[in-house]
This record gives sequence, C-alpha cells and structure tokens, in this order.
Amino acid sequence: MGKKYVYKFGPGGAEGRADMKNLLGGKGANLAEMSNLGIPVPPGFTISTEMCTVYYEQDRNYPPELEEQVKEAMAWVEEKMGAKFGDPENPLLVSVRSGARVSMPGMMDTVLNLGLNDETVQGLIKNSNNERFGWDSYRRFVQMYGDVVLGLKPESKEEVDPFEAIIDEMKEEKGAKLDTDLTAEDLKELVRRFKQLIKEKKGVDFPEDPWEQLWGAINAVFGSWMNPRAITYRKLNGIPDDWGTAVNVQAMVFGNMGDDSATGVAFTRDPATGEKEFYGEYLINAQGEDVVAGIRTPLQITKKRSVEWAQQNGISEEERRTRYPSLEEYMPEVYEELVKVYQTLERHYRDMQDIEFTIQRRRLWMLQTRVGKRTAQAAVRIAVDMVDEGLISKEEAILRVAPDQLDQLLHPQFDPKAEKKVIARGLPASPGAATGRVVFHAEDAEDWASRGEKVILVRIETSPEDIGGMSVAQGILTARGGMTSHAAVVARGMGTCCVAGCGALQIDYAKKQMRVDDLVIKEGDWISIDGSTGEVMLGQVPTIEPQLSGHFGRLMEWADEIRRLGVRTNADTPKDAQVARNFGAEGIGLCRTEHMFFEGDRIKAVREMILADDEAGRRKALEKLLPMQKGDFYQILKVMHDLPVTIRTLDPPLHEFLPHEEEQQREMAEEMGVPVEKIKEKVQALQEFNPMLGHRGCRLGITYPEITEMQARAIMEAACELTREGVKVYPEIMIPLVGTKEELAHQREVVVRVAEEVQKQYGVKVDYKVGTMIEVPRAALTADRIAEVAEFFSFGTNDLTQMTFGFSRDDAGKFLMEYIDKKILPEDPFRTLDQDGVGQLVEMGVQKGRKTRPDLKVGICGEHGGDPKSVEFCHRVGLDYVSCSPYRVPIARLAAAQAVAKEKLQAA
Ligand code: PEP
Ligand code: MG
Repeated sequence: MGKKYVYKFGPGGAEGRADMKNLLGGKGANLAEMSNLGIPVPPGFTISTEMCTVYYEQDRNYPPELEEQVKEAMAWVEEKMGAKFGDPENPLLVSVRSGARVSMPGMMDTVLNLGLNDETVQGLIKNSNNERFGWDSYRRFVQMYGDVVLGLKPESKEEVDPFEAIIDEMKEEKGAKLDTDLTAEDLKELVRRFKQLIKEKKGVDFPEDPWEQLWGAINAVFGSWMNPRAITYRKLNGIPDDWGTAVNVQAMVFGNMGDDSATGVAFTRDPATGEKEFYGEYLINAQGEDVVAGIRTPLQITKKRSVEWAQQNGISEEERRTRYPSLEEYMPEVYEELVKVYQTLERHYRDMQDIEFTIQRRRLWMLQTRVGKRTAQAAVRIAVDMVDEGLISKEEAILRVAPDQLDQLLHPQFDPKAEKKVIARGLPASPGAATGRVVFHAEDAEDWASRGEKVILVRIETSPEDIGGMSVAQGILTARGGMTSHAAVVARGMGTCCVAGCGALQIDYAKKQMRVDDLVIKEGDWISIDGSTGEVMLGQVPTIEPQLSGHFGRLMEWADEIRRLGVRTNADTPKDAQVARNFGAEGIGLCRTEHMFFEGDRIKAVREMILADDEAGRRKALEKLLPMQKGDFYQILKVMHDLPVTIRTLDPPLHEFLPHEEEQQREMAEEMGVPVEKIKEKVQALQEFNPMLGHRGCRLGITYPEITEMQARAIMEAACELTREGVKVYPEIMIPLVGTKEELAHQREVVVRVAEEVQKQYGVKVDYKVGTMIEVPRAALTADRIAEVAEFFSFGTNDLTQMTFGFSRDDAGKFLMEYIDKKILPEDPFRTLDQDGVGQLVEMGVQKGRKTRPDLKVGICGEHGGDPKSVEFCHRVGLDYVSCSPYRVPIARLAAAQAVAKEKLQAA
C-alpha cells in the first residue's frame, strides 16, 4: 500500500491519537482522540498533512497509493454508517474540511453534504421522510461546491455572491421573506438554477459522480492552504507554510432534519472571563456553519445564560421560554449527555475545550474538540482555577499563559467613575477598553491606521477577508453574531477588544454611517467600546490603571517562586521607575541619562558645553548641569530604595543635542548670544558618516573626562544624601560601548576617584559598583580581560546585534521585513535575540567574564530583555537578570518562570 496517508476514526476507536497533531492536524487528531474515549463521533478519515506537502511538491498531484487508501477508508465508513457513497437508495453523505496543526478560524474551505446528486437526493428524501430537507441539503451542497471547488466566490466586497443573488431572486418571485419560507419545489428549482449558473460561468457541468465530487473537494481543501487569506493569517500568527493542512472526510450528521435536530458550539469555561461555567450557543434545525456564520442569532445552551441574555435584550421570560429556550430546557436529555461529554473532555485534556456538536433527531454527535482560544484574563483564571481543582500543577499553570498575552491585562481599563454615554450594548466578546474613530471597511481601517489614527472597525459581521483591518484596529464592533462568531474568535486570539452582536446598530456601508435609533454616527466619529461589559459609548472615555491582584497576583506569585532570573527595568524617570516597581521590577537595569539632557533649561547647558572651546568652558557648563542631574538621580534612587539602580554615563553622539534646521539654529544662536555661524560650524564639525560607530559611548568620556566626572559626582552626591537620610541605595555606574579593557579602566579611574572624594566629603559609605555594557563584539571576545576592571556586565544587545550583523539599527527596518518574508532570517533580530550568532557572543562573554571574576553580576538591557524567547535564552546561559521596559516586567517574570517550568517538566 506504500506510505500510510489515511487515518480512520469513529465509533469503536481510531488509528490516530491527540498527540499526532503534526500529522493529522488539530481537528483530525482530536476526532481520533474523542473516538478513542468512546465519545460519539461520526465515522470518517483524515488525509495527513504530509500529503499536503507532497501535493505541492508534486505540482498539485497525488501519489498513486492515496486513491487506494481513500477507497478502503470510505468502505469502512460505509460499513459503520450502514449506507453507501453514491447509493441512490441509502446514500452516505460526507463533509470535507481542512484542519491544520493549529486552528485557523474560517481561513480555509469546507464542503458539506458531499455525495448528493439528482439520484441520491431521492434516497435522502426517502430516508429522512422530508422532501424539503432533501432539496435544501442539495441546494446547499451545490452552492458550497460552486463556491469552494469551482471558484464562484465573489472576488470583492462590492460583488454579490451569485448564488445568494439567485436565492434573493427566488424569494422575490415567491414573496418569501426568509430562506425557510421557500418550499421543497422552490429549493428544487434553486438547484436547477445553481447548476445552470455553474454551466454558464464555468463552462462545466456540475459533477454528478460522487467520487469526482470528493476529489474535487479534497483538491480544494489542499488548495485553500495557499489562498491569500490563509497566507495572511499564517504571517500574522507566525505559522510556517510547510506545516500544511490535513483533510478530514467525515460522515454527515444533520442538525437541520427538523425541530428535533440542532447544532451548536460551546466552551467548557467562559472564554472571556475564564469563569468555570459551561457556555455555548446553538440553533434549532440548522446546519453546522450557521452558528459560526452569525446569520441567525443563536440561543443559549444553559438556562442561566439564557435568562441573562433575555434580560440584557429586554425579552420577557414568557417569550424567552417559548421563542428562545435554552438547550437545557428544550432537550434536557441531550443536554445532560452533552454535559457529561464536556466534562469527560475537560478532565481528559486538562484544559478548557472549544467543542462543536450536532444533534440529529435527538441523538448527540461530537464534531470537534480543541483547546479553546481565550483572553489573557481567562487564560490566567483558568490556569489558577485548574491548579486549585487539582487538574494541573503550578508549573503547568505557569506554562498555560503566553507571556505576550499578559500585555492585555497590563493596560488601562475604562475608569468606572468616568461619565459614559452608553448608546448600545452587545456581547462582551473580547475584553479591553478601546477608543477610536469609526470606520466601516477593513481596508479603510488599514488606511487610517497607517496614518496613525486610532480606529474602531464597525461591521455588520466580519469575515476572514477583514483580518488585515481587524489586526490594526483598537477595537472591533459588530451588529450580528455571537460569542463564537468570526469577529469574537479572531479578536480574542489577537487580544483585541471586541463587542459583537450589537443588534441596535443599523449599519449602512454605502453611506459610511450607522444609526442607533435617531442617533447617527459617521465615519471618523469617536466611540469607545468595552469588551468586558459589551457597552458601546459615544466619544472618548477616560481610562485607569489595571488591577494586578486576584488570579493574576497568584499566578505571578508562583512565577516568582520558581524563577531564577532576576527582572529589572529600563527606566529614566521616577514615574517609569515607580510603574515598573509596581509591576514587580527588582531594580533598574538601565537608566539612560541622555534623555534627562533634553528637558527645559538643561538642553541650554548641554549646548553651552558642546559649544565651549576648552575644558574650562565645558566645566562651567557642566557645573550648571550638576544640580539638575543630581536631582534626577536623587528621585530615581529614592523610588528604587533597597534595590540596585544601574545608571549609564552619556552615550549618544553630541550632534544629537544640536539643532540641524536653520531656523532652530538661529533661535539657539539668539538665546545663547553667539553668532549663528558658530553653531553651524559646530554642527559641521560634529557631523559623522557613521555616527553610530563614531564619537559616542565611552569614547566621549575619554575625550571629555569632565562629563563622566560630573555624572559620577551627581550620582554619588544623590546617593550620599539619601544614605544620610537613612534610605538604602545601590548605585551601579555603567560605562557604555566599551571594546577594550583600557577604555573601561580609564573611565573607571575617573568614577572611582570622584566617588571616593564625594563619600569623604559627605562622611558616608555607599555600596556602589562600576561596570560596563557589553555591546561591541570585541568586548564579548575579550570579556575575560574586561572583567579585570568591571564589577558587572550588562549586555546591550541592541548595539551588539547592530554590530554583529552590521545592520544599522536605524535603517535596517527598510529591508528586514523582506528578509523575513524571504526566510533569510526567521525573525527580526532586534526583537528576538539571534541565538545562533549574537547569542554566541553573549554566552562567550558570560563565560569569559566569570572565569576572571566568578561573582561577576551579568544582565541584559537591550530590547530583548522583554522578549519571552530571548528571556528563556538568558536563563539558559546563566545571566543574573534581564531588564526591560516597565510594561514588560510581568511578561519577563512569567517568561523567566516558564524557562524553569519547562526544565522541570522535561526532567520529570
Ligand atoms: C543596547 O545597545 O542594547 C542598549 C541597551 O543601549 P541603547 O539602546 O541605549 O544603545
Ligand atoms: Mg547601546
């Protein structure tokens, strides 16, 4: 039979398992697992992801053994179902769906009811004893097949779906309002017209042969892996192209066989808040995709939610019970069974599941289970609750939350005390507070965002084509669809605030406006949406800082218990330092002093120093700066009492402090009482071809030791004063851009001389250190010698990356995206540390440095200090701490804990 590409699953067990996701895709692996658990799954088979790769390698052809394996599997399904594929009397119908390793909601294609033709439809009608159902299934199939396999999808937003146009025409002819008003005869006529359309547009007959249909659908699913929206989705989510998709062929079960049938989707816990409460939506007499598509407003599965929903929507209890019953009330026995199934699944997978089911004539069938996407808030809560429930360990809980996701929790929320003009309410689909200007089309969202505008994308409902616009919007608001609609699922995945199913909005795409009763909101108007309450508000509502206690606090406590790496922050102001401290920073890893030179009067003194002709002139200007610098350090050291604070001496090239525009040069000349020519001359003199490799870093301090002197004095005077006041301070003075031991030795001598002098003067002792940044490759290579004069190292991986690759930090953006697109680099090395190259220098620097000085303290303060993957690397190579921007401190704490949790779980 050759290599095995086809894996069967269904009642009685499966050939695959949950841990075969790479081969079977997420959907296929979980269908197999559910079958093995004895959960009712319609029989079927999965064609592996390997086949997708082979298909593209062989120029969209299959190896010969595939056909044989598919036939054999189909015969097995026929036997399980007691029906035959293509049999006019008792036809087996199948669905054909994609399924990649990770879910890509709505990105690829699906065909349902495959196997129907003019003959088999009669068998379906006979068996279901329902003529209308038979023809409705057939017309859906022809439509989907025409769309997906024969390519009759509308090309653009403006174009109408040709099949939908025919349906509308039909409804008009028959005076029907809803699709459900069309009779069996009407639907039969629709099938005829659909086929005619296909013939006209595509010049081919609709294939009557079920096997031809099947291969067409399999081709389409494999083909959809390379459609533009799937490619965009993969790019946005970092999914490699060569993973491929599997194809799942599965016996159809019908949720639209009548009022004793239904279909639904559910989460085993609330995906927005994480609350331990079964949560889901269903539709009576509907087929699979209807719930997700958001065309009909779905009903609630549990009675509790149903009652809440009715209250929110102003529906009376009487009306709710009769028109909008919960599944719990409508089919209690099936509901009980569903509860058992979901509990089994959650216990088995030990994680929140997102499930799809169909009820055919009161019989429950499970169509899918997968780990449910969730908001950051829900991820944290579920992880903590599951530890309390004894389902998972603390280490597992720590690994359950993606560090980058925490970002969502660290940002402001709407101020509950603020005045709010609530104009409508929808479903709280993805939490967060978003304020922006209204746009109605995804392309517009992209345009506006590219101009720096904050936008809220408002749509009747979203579709996979909108993904680009959704990803740049502050928030997403839809008029239709439930918690499982495309908008809701995708927004939660992206961590974007979303309010869905806000029925009060009447959206007019053509006029680019919406109405809520009499109120008209136009494109460009400001609104605010609250993804945690579902409120839609007029204007810009003020926000407050987030809450860091509760579940979040507990998870972070566990993270702190196990992590080895310290986490510091990069902060230049007392305010940033305080924010970082509140977020758990254990010190400052980098205080860049140059930012302090730009404020108010200081820039004047800085410029005076630069313009001075000799050392005496410079010293005079520096004397003016001293008290200001001292004040800065005093405040920062005070905020960070009891913790180390690394302060770096001046780093940027001096020309950055001078104006380059003629007008500003004139202003400066006037202010300082010097001829403008003098300023121009100085700017000229300071001009460099490669300023980043020029007169900057310690090179400045070596040329002008008086600058280092002034900074050391400011730091030490502030430290001495605080020490006198009883505040414990630990300043660490750091010299930038060192490449040789002698450079550092020179600067160290200046710092130590001043520090000793100041301490004597104040009569106090300060526990201070002098160290260096390692950001020039030569420094890493000679770290053993540099460590002779350094008490600590901090890797400046921004410059180290720049100099190791020879990529200018300021210019590489122009071509780096292309490098990533063309797979020349896996990711932006300025964001995620290049472990193969730059990482080697870091590792070498640590080893060589510690050889000379075993107690050498080593950290990192480049942007990488807040990047989870890079943090894991820092843990592995034995750094003492990472330092990152204040808002990334909790992210780094969690990432550092994950590095340990992974080691522990691997060892176990
Ligand atoms: C670095 O180079 O990594 C660094 C932290 O310094 P800066 O970004 O200020 O050059
Ligand atoms: Mg640097």
